[in-house]
Amino acid sequence: MVLEAPRQPLLARQLPLRDPAAGEVLVEVAACGVCRTDLHVADGELTRPKLPLVLGHEVVGRVVAAGAGVERLRVGDRVGVPWLGATCGRCPHCRAARENLCDSPEFTGYTRDGGYASHMLADAGYVFSLPDAYDDAHAAPLLCAGLIGFRALRFCDDARTVGIYGFGAAAHLIAQLAIWQGRRVFAFTKPGDADGQAFARALGCAWAGDSTQPPPEPLDAAVLFAPVGSLVPAALRATRKAGTVVCGGIHMSEIPAFPYELLWGERVLRSVANLTRDDAEQFLALAPRVPIRTHVQTWPLAQANEALDAVRTGRVQGAAVLLCP
Ligand SMILES: [Zn+2]
Ligand SMILES: [Zn+2]
Repeated sequence: MVLEAPRQPLLARQLPLRDPAAGEVLVEVAACGVCRTDLHVADGELTRPKLPLVLGHEVVGRVVAAGAGVERLRVGDRVGVPWLGATCGRCPHCRAARENLCDSPEFTGYTRDGGYASHMLADAGYVFSLPDAYDDAHAAPLLCAGLIGFRALRFCDDARTVGIYGFGAAAHLIAQLAIWQGRRVFAFTKPGDADGQAFARALGCAWAGDSTQPPPEPLDAAVLFAPVGSLVPAALRATRKAGTVVCGGIHMSEIPAFPYELLWGERVLRSVANLTRDDAEQFLALAPRVPIRTHVQTWPLAQANEALDAVRTGRVQGAAVLLCP
């Protein structure tokens, strides 16, 4: 399913398949998660996609061919392909164990073709084996919603009370991890989203309510997954002194001006960008131990546009996943 230009529906296309180059694997895709980032690319809010482009960076599939020099993987191996497609290994960030901030990175489903497809090519150094406890569809959301959520939660340090704004794919995974770690989770949804709030409570959240409401007690930290800039001052207002507000999305509407007193008191406002391979190794080992249960709603690959629309309008409980033929 190909994006030929922003703000156009994806189109089913037959594309030629080349053999994997040195260091690459050819993956037969079984399932691919639909992430809000895909919407930001399709809608033109992320402005530098490869075009035409195959979206999708939560890819689960099996290796069907390997290029020269690939020793870590064999034909038949089940692998996951995440957003981080490749890094340079030489820039100051790569050398400082911050490859998520690489100066010349490649991203799956953005600067290289992703997994809304029957097959894809991936750099063998940036794919992961997946825990057996998850079938293909249920493993897919771990690869971005889970990984980015995991990185965001780490920036909450030892917060005992964590607010999560936007209770979609990432939130439903990371709430389970936070609760398992002994934290209390307060879930904020779109005003009036009773189903979303009930879903959050069913997963063990201590409180769920509208994002316009204050929490029942101040937060030690907050994580924003909703791409809504006005939630930044709202989250700062809900967070106690020395607390951290983490912005987990890649794009957000403009943040309105707010009084300095919301940041005063050594509150920290920060973003989370991409993932490192170390994040992936840690999280994929941790997920089955919790165990984190992924809730998925599936569409056939040919209905990728419908799945994107469902994510856009917030109609998905848990994560949207495409099943690839
Ligand atoms: Zn780099
Ligand atoms: Zn993503």
